[in-house]
Formats: sequence, C-alpha cells, structure tokens
Amino acid sequence: MNNATEVRAASTEPRRGSVGVDIAGVRVGGRAPIVVQSMTNTDTADVAGTTKQVAELWRAGSELVRITVNTPEAAEAVPRIRERLDMMGVGVPLIGDFHYNGHQLLTHEPAAATALAKYRINPGNVGFGKKKDVQFSTIVELAIRHGKAVRIGANWGSLDQELLARMMDENHARAEPWDAPRVMREALIRSALDSAARAEELGLARERIVLSCKVSGVQELIAVYRDLAARSDYALHLGLTEAGIGSKGIVASSAALAVLMQEGIGDTIRISLTPEPQESRTREVIVAQELLQTMGLRAFTPLVTACPGCGRTTSTFFQELAKTVQDHVRARMPEWRIQYDGVENLTLAVMGCVVNGPGESKHANIGISLPGTGEAPSAPVFVDGVKTMTLRGENIAQEFVGVLEKYVEGKFARKVG
Ligand code: SF4
Repeated sequence: MNNATEVRAASTEPRRGSVGVDIAGVRVGGRAPIVVQSMTNTDTADVAGTTKQVAELWRAGSELVRITVNTPEAAEAVPRIRERLDMMGVGVPLIGDFHYNGHQLLTHEPAAATALAKYRINPGNVGFGKKKDVQFSTIVELAIRHGKAVRIGANWGSLDQELLARMMDENHARAEPWDAPRVMREALIRSALDSAARAEELGLARERIVLSCKVSGVQELIAVYRDLAARSDYALHLGLTEAGIGSKGIVASSAALAVLMQEGIGDTIRISLTPEPQESRTREVIVAQELLQTMGLRAFTPLVTACPGCGRTTSTFFQELAKTVQDHVRARMPEWRIQYDGVENLTLAVMGCVVNGPGESKHANIGISLPGTGEAPSAPVFVDGVKTMTLRGENIAQEFVGVLEKYVEGKFARKVG
C-alpha cells in the first residue's frame, strides 16, 4: 500500500454512514460509492433532442440524469423520453427538476410522475406565502404515492426569503449577533432540514430523501456542508452551483468537492459547468469521474499520467501522443468495460524525456519515455516496471496503442456471460 492509499483509507471513512436512498436501482448514500450525475440543457419538450443528450450523458458515465420540467409540454414529453431511452437500452434514472409549478405538472401528468425516478424540489421557490406549504405537500404526497425519492435542494440564489427575514430578526435579538454570511448559511441549512422534517411528517421515508445546499463560493460550500453533515444523516448531493465556464468552473468545483469528499461528506456529485461554445455537455461528467478517480475514490477509465513538458521537449509529439492514448482509451472503454474485469484500474504514462520518463513509466502498467532534446531518437516502453522494447520512427503512436491493446487482452480476465 502506498502513502496515498493509506491517507485515503484513513480520511475518507464515511462521516457516519448516511441513510441510503435507492433511485430506480442506483444506490445513493448508505456507504455506496459516490454517484456521478449531470443535467441536460435541452428544452425537455424537445423529445428527440433531450433523449439524445440524456443518452450521451449516460454513455459518458452519468449514473443519474436530471431534466428540467417547467411546462405542461415538458411534463408531457417526460414519459416519451423515458420510453425512447428504454428502447435504446439506456436505463439511466431520470430526475425531474421542478420550480414553482411542480405540484401542478406532476398532478396533471401522472405519466411523468411515474416515469421520473426522483423529484427535485427547491424549498426557496416551491411556492410563496400560504400556498407554499400546500404546494410542497402536494409534491411530497405524489412522491409517496408513486414510490419516488425526493431531493430537497436549497440554493443560495433562491433562498427562502421569509425564512431568511425571520432569521435576520432572530439574529438582531442575539446578545452577540452573527455576521450576515453566517445567518445566510444557517438559513440555507435550516431551509433544507426543516423541509426534510416536514416531508417526513407527511410520510416520506428518510430512505427517500436526498438533501443539497448549493452555493457558488468554495469556502461557503465547505462550511455549509460540514455543518449539514454534522447535523443530519440524510444522503447528500454535492455541487458548487454556478461554478462557471472552463478551467474556472473545474477548479472551483474540484477544490470544494475534494475537501468535502476527503472528509467523507457527499454521496452523489454534479459538476455544474457552463459549457464553452461548441463544447459537449458530457464534459461535466468526465470532470466528475476524473475528480473521483484522481482522489482514489472510484475508478472509471484508465487515466494517462503525462509530464507537462519543458525546455527539454523539442516538439509537441509527446503532447499529441498523450492525447491520442487518452482518447483511444476513452473510445475503447465502453467495449473493454463489458469484456474485461478491472480494466478501469489500468495506469498509463506518457513522458517527455529521460529525466523523469523512465521512473514514472515504471510506476505505470504501461509507460513510454519519449526522447527529449539531445537524446537518441528512441522511446523505451515499460510494461509493469520492466523495459520491454524501444520504439523508433514514424509509427510510435500506432505501435504504442498496439502494445496497450495487447496488454489489456492478456492482463485482464474476460468477463463471463
Ligand atoms: S519529464 Fe522531462 S520533458 Fe517532462 S517535464 Fe520533466 S524534464 Fe521536462
């Protein structure tokens, strides 16, 4: 066992074992592995477009997919999307995201209420004034009737304003008032916990409730979830809301979620990325998987260790090779996953010169050390720590991929059945 594994084993003991929730066969919480989820950005009323994107997200590895249900047309589309997915062999559970009118949509479209595996309610905008309690109760009662799970998802951007005002008043009466951010955090947590307690009073089992309290700041998210985890044993959905675009969104989400998951907090995650123009929605799924895998919490796809390159690398060849290898692995994984046991644990290294190349390559199952400036134009290949061949010439990429294919075939046991 290396040091990283020892640290992981010591620090990621589940916080106290959250209550497990079954979402159409996908286990969230209760010491189950952390589940990856994502959300479509299509108009749900567009049955073909939404079905296509859900299938893409599922193929990328999303284990739950949330869809917006905001209009009668969207609600009417839900069972048709479910049906098409089932015909395609895409069994991923669908979660309905409701705001303001979920009680009406689920009541008037029972086929949607049946087709969805979980309903997401935001206690900050489930309704206002006197209607709020009735509308919340209606959704919870429908969930009970249809045997569905519910996520009570509070959000910093749509915090229950009545609750916040009341808590601000209570705070003024304190001998030592809290600062405003602390009151906001407490209001967010109270909104989620009070709503969950109300759902239980209405008869929704604890085993059907998932909570989330999303904010857009890293330190705030960590503080909120530490507190939430200490005060409840509900299964928790983690995510930084409005994380942003590109590297900013990835870094912010990873920083916040990594700290919490390292402390054993969180049962399912979503990386809420704003896609860059022309970028696939599946990016958020890949980032979530890579985060879990690099932390050693789950394994999905063999990852390529590659050095950053420096003044010793004379061309972009090694960057291209690292990309070729990673792309090849991702493209082959759907088939490999079916054929070979444990292939997701394969490790690969593509290195740019002799300084760290052979050493890093020996730590991987298969590694290649390309020639840096002034080195002989040859690339030693290491398999399970042993130098087995040297590649040269124009076809290094194809030959290395060939070594990889042969290794997978010979190393991992074929699945039976
Ligand atoms: S392995 Fe070589 S090429 Fe890569 S970063 Fe280190 S010194 Fe530079």
